[in-house]
Amino acid sequence: MKILVINAGSSSLKFQLIDMNGEVVIAKGTCGRVGAEMGEFEIKTEQGKFEKEVAMANHTEAFLVVKEALTSGETKVIDSLSEISAIGHRVVQGGAIYKESTLITDDVIKGIESLCDLAPLHNPAHIQGINACMEVFGKDVPEVAVFDNAFHSTMPEEAYMFGIPYEYYEKYQIRRYGFHGTSHRYVSGECANIMGKDLKDIKLITCHLGNGSSITAIKDGKVIDTSMGLTPLDGFVMGTRSGNLDPSVVTFLQEKEGWTPAETNAVLNKKSGIAGISGGFSDDRDIQKEANEGNKRADLARKMQWYQIRKYIGQYIAAMQGVDAIVFTGGIGENSQPLRQNICESFAYLGITFNAEENAKAIRGVGGELSGADSKVKVYVIPTNEELMIARDTKEIAEKVLG
Ligand code: ADP
Repeated sequence: MKILVINAGSSSLKFQLIDMNGEVVIAKGTCGRVGAEMGEFEIKTEQGKFEKEVAMANHTEAFLVVKEALTSGETKVIDSLSEISAIGHRVVQGGAIYKESTLITDDVIKGIESLCDLAPLHNPAHIQGINACMEVFGKDVPEVAVFDNAFHSTMPEEAYMFGIPYEYYEKYQIRRYGFHGTSHRYVSGECANIMGKDLKDIKLITCHLGNGSSITAIKDGKVIDTSMGLTPLDGFVMGTRSGNLDPSVVTFLQEKEGWTPAETNAVLNKKSGIAGISGGFSDDRDIQKEANEGNKRADLARKMQWYQIRKYIGQYIAAMQGVDAIVFTGGIGENSQPLRQNICESFAYLGITFNAEENAKAIRGVGGELSGADSKVKVYVIPTNEELMIARDTKEIAEKVLG
C-alpha cells in the first residue's frame, strides 16, 4: 500500500510518498511559494534531487505539479495516481474535538474549520490542502487527518488549564493543547521498543528540539503535560519564539511600544527567543560557533536555552515523581552535541552518567544511547519521523474504509 503524506502550509506544500511495504520513502519534496508569481518545486527520489521553478497559483495547481512529477519524466516513481491508496494530512490544531487521527469527511472539514481561531496560520491552510487534494485525487481516495495535538489530549485538567477566569475557557476554549504530538508519540514508541518495555510501564520525558521546541512528560502511556500551550509560543526559548514569560511583559510592551496584537505576535514569534537574545542567530550551529568565538550574547542565548530545558525536565520529573528515560529528537535534539552534554551532565545528581563517545556519534539521523551502562536514567537520541507516523495512522484507517 502506498500512502501520500501531506503537510500543507499557507504558501507551501510538503509531501512524502511512502510504500508501507517496508515503510520506504519513494519520493519526497516541497512546493514552495505557492500563490506567488513564480514558485519553487523540489523532489527527491532514488534517482536524485530535482528542482524547477514553476508557477503554482494555489494548492490545486501545486498538487497537479506533484502529480506530474510522480507519474512522468525522470522523477517518475508510479504509473498513475491510482497507485496511491490513501492520503494522510498533518493538521496542527484538533482542539478538544479530535483525540485521535480521523477519516476526513465533510463534517471533519467543518470541525477543522471551526478551530481556525485557535490556529489561524495553520488550519485554514490545511483545509485548502485537503480540498485541493480531493479535487486532484477524487473523493474515493480515503484522506485522513493526523492532528499535532491529539497525543496530548490525555493531559489532566490541572495540567491544561491556565489560571485565568474559567469563563474564558468556556467561551473561547483557551487551554493548553500542546503541539509536536506526532513526534512525541513516535519517539516515545521507539524508546519503549529500544528499552524492551511497554510504554505504559515507563516514565518518559521527550524533548523535541528544533526551530520550534517542546518537551512532553509521558506516564502510564499517556501525556500528562507538555510545554507548548494554546499556541506553539509557550514553553522555553526557541529559534525565534520567546517561550513563556511573565504575561505583564506583553502588556507593558504593548503600552510602551504601541503594538497591536498582530505586531505583538510577530515580535514574540519571529524576533524573540535565541535570535532575539543573540542578535539574529537562530540556528544552533551558528549559536555554537559564535558563542565559542566569544560572542557573549550568543553564549547567553545558549545558556538560557540549556537552563530552561533543564528546568522543564526537572518540573516533569517532579510531576511524574520519577523518570526512566529522556529522549532527544528534532533538528537540535538529533544534532547539538553541546546541548545534550550540558543537559545530561546537569542531571548527574539523578544518577545519569554520560557517554561522550556515543554523543559524538549520534548526529544527522543516527540515533544512540547517551547514558552509560551504569546510568540510573536512560538517555537516548531518537531521530523523529512524523511522516511515517502519519502514514501508519492513515494506513490503519484506510484499511478499515477500503475493507
Ligand atoms: P523545525 O522546527 O523547523 O521542524 P528542525 O527540527 O528541522 O526544525 O530543526 C532545525 C534546527 O536544527 C536548525 O535551525 C538548527 O538549529 C538545528 N540543526 C540542524 N542540523 C544541525 C547540526 N548538524 N548541528 C546542530 N544543529 C543542527
